[in-house]
Amino acid sequence: MSFLDDLLHARSGPMTTELVQRPGDFGLGKVPARLAPAATAKSICGFCSTGCSLMVHLDAEGQAINLTPDPDYPVNLGMACPKGWEALTPLAAPDRATAPLLRDAMGELRPVDWPRALGEFSARLKDIQRRHGAGSVAVLSTGQMMMEEMALLGALAKFGMGITDIDSNTRQCMATAHMAYKQSFGFDAPPFPYADFEESDVLVFVGANPCIAHPIMWQRVMRNRRNPAIIVVDPRRTETAMAATLHLPARPKSDLTLLYGLARELIKRGTVDAGFVTAHTTGFAEFVSFVGAFTPERVATETGLAPADLQRAADLIARPGARVSYWWTMGVNQSHQATRTAQALINLALMTGQIGKPGTGANSITGQCNAMGSRLFGNATSLLGGHDYADPADRAKVAGILGMHEALIPMKASRAYDQILDAVEAGEIRALWIIATNTAHSWVNQERFGALRDKLDFLVVQDMYPTTETAQQADLVLPAAGWGEKEGVFINSERRLGLTRKVARAPGQALSDFAIFKLVAEVWGCGLQFARWSSPAATFQLLKELSRGQPCDFSGIRDHAQIEEHGGIQWPFSAADAALIDDLRSTIDGAHKAEASNSGGSEIVNHKSSIVNRAERRLFSDGRFFTKDGRARFLFDEPAPLPEPPDAAYPFLLNTGRGSSVQWHTGSRTDKSAVLRKLAPDRLWLEIHPDDAEPLRLRTGDQVRVTSRRGAAEAVAVVISTVRRGEVFLPMHFAEVNRLTFPSFDPHSRQPAYKACAVALERINPGAK
Ligand code: SF4
Repeated sequence: MSFLDDLLHARSGPMTTELVQRPGDFGLGKVPARLAPAATAKSICGFCSTGCSLMVHLDAEGQAINLTPDPDYPVNLGMACPKGWEALTPLAAPDRATAPLLRDAMGELRPVDWPRALGEFSARLKDIQRRHGAGSVAVLSTGQMMMEEMALLGALAKFGMGITDIDSNTRQCMATAHMAYKQSFGFDAPPFPYADFEESDVLVFVGANPCIAHPIMWQRVMRNRRNPAIIVVDPRRTETAMAATLHLPARPKSDLTLLYGLARELIKRGTVDAGFVTAHTTGFAEFVSFVGAFTPERVATETGLAPADLQRAADLIARPGARVSYWWTMGVNQSHQATRTAQALINLALMTGQIGKPGTGANSITGQCNAMGSRLFGNATSLLGGHDYADPADRAKVAGILGMHEALIPMKASRAYDQILDAVEAGEIRALWIIATNTAHSWVNQERFGALRDKLDFLVVQDMYPTTETAQQADLVLPAAGWGEKEGVFINSERRLGLTRKVARAPGQALSDFAIFKLVAEVWGCGLQFARWSSPAATFQLLKELSRGQPCDFSGIRDHAQIEEHGGIQWPFSAADAALIDDLRSTIDGAHKAEASNSGGSEIVNHKSSIVNRAERRLFSDGRFFTKDGRARFLFDEPAPLPEPPDAAYPFLLNTGRGSSVQWHTGSRTDKSAVLRKLAPDRLWLEIHPDDAEPLRLRTGDQVRVTSRRGAAEAVAVVISTVRRGEVFLPMHFAEVNRLTFPSFDPHSRQPAYKACAVALERINPGAK
């Protein structure tokens, strides 16, 4: 046969049987026959806080070969965004860290074995502590690890290694929500289930673009059958704003003024739930007096909105009987007055009694897959399980559960990320251990971190990749397993504990973060102290005990397996809740038997079943909050001016944010996927209004230099009217962006304000037409 005949009649290779599809057998469509799985395993996605469940397809050896979304999970209902579909790809990247790397005398990172790496780790850090004090070593961690790993790291660092400062990249995304809830409700407690997306009559999104940043949550909004009104407060006409009933493009960081003005208007209209306010809150009278100054005229002047906009928003929210929910994320959290802005939303929900009921709430949408786990068990600002370092009873409780001496627990919380870096600058902190975060890319005013590197005697980076901007600056790189290569629990935005499975072997000598922490404990000489933390499953049992009696009590969860059996379990789920469920189950069994004997048990079955099977639960249905007096607080402050407003030298206001649903933070994982790379521009782009582009002679596709007082970046201009005049937007995933950002911090949460700084623009090829 000729070559052509061979090609046309080939039985294997491209365009042959390899294209044959077979039924999936596990809920979704078909898969290529060659990828038919021997089994599937459920695992919670390791990117964002939505917490979608993925069915990972396994070969005969139990290794992942493919995945599809889980059709039965109450979070994603068979959906996944592009990142979830591509979740396995970053594991196979050619630049995975496969051995520890130690910088040699020539300044090169060279592979070494684990004993040498850990010996160096221990010797260098102990020497620094001996010379400069225990507090001269600090840890910067992540919201991407499992809850058990975070807790072990926090306990090891503080109780085993004597480190006083540990913070994480949760500070960059969720510290504000944490602090706002803690101050207002008495505990860091997002009150909602995702069902509230589907049960609201009015959804108010402030500084949130779920179409792009949380696409599966947005799908839940799209499933809402109540024909809801959607109000979006955002300076940009984002994808979510385009889908809104009412878009309020308030000036950047004027949202606090707008929300106070809205409160005033609703009070004026009598849209106050006086019974709820009287019974369950404190500070309302002071709040009423405070917001009196936020007249429609003042709101219009400070926000740039027309007075009618405020009225339209109030009209929608004040509709009799309407269920109203308020949602926020980074546009609020990353502000110079972030905590008070989040609390302005909480205040609106409280004063109108829109909390604890279906379709309501002041609801923070979280960022990273386990930011919520980090908030409870990072051992940074709160003692393990949301306890208080300053409370002797809390310290005694934690010490008792962990079987250690109370004196090992510090009496105060860690310093915040920015304060840790300040201490590096001051020469007080001499070594950093950075885990699964990319500080050299993501920290605000990035150039400063580069300068601080020279102040460090030793920098250890623990990561999946030795190629991140931060790992490239390390003295020692510890190779870590990634999502899918280890087991543990994530907590999602709606407080749901979900299980992630080990479905792949880590490459080379890479180890799970949990295993690395255990080895560090051994080498450091405190291994015995962590003997009971023998595995993620055993650690989960300790964490259950630590949660007991706290608002986040999940002591009723039997073990990891039960989390999976139930499709995730939201906290609280106390031992008493578990006993109640058992009791209900036996009632149901009894009723089944009664029904079988025709004694009319079906009604009981239906009623009790609905309780047992209730998959989504919300907080505060009884109006009791977690403060000492059980009442929520109205908290507020005068709006403060922008820390760095535009001026003659830097005439534009720069906003940053998520540019695409396929890019995740610094791109260390999503950039590994050719599929994801194709779905978004590969070069930094700058969005600018046509009226601003014209005098600069900028057209879409032109190169533009963006300069702030701290640095410069080059970008491709995109001339588009979705940004306001005088403002420009850059997607945050590109390393250059944080050369520009201004280091101001919310005074309560210490979260950086990435969203507003002054920049100048210059067309790079001014000679061209
Ligand atoms: Fe994963 Fe978030 Fe996408 Fe769901 S929405 S698949 S959790 S990245």
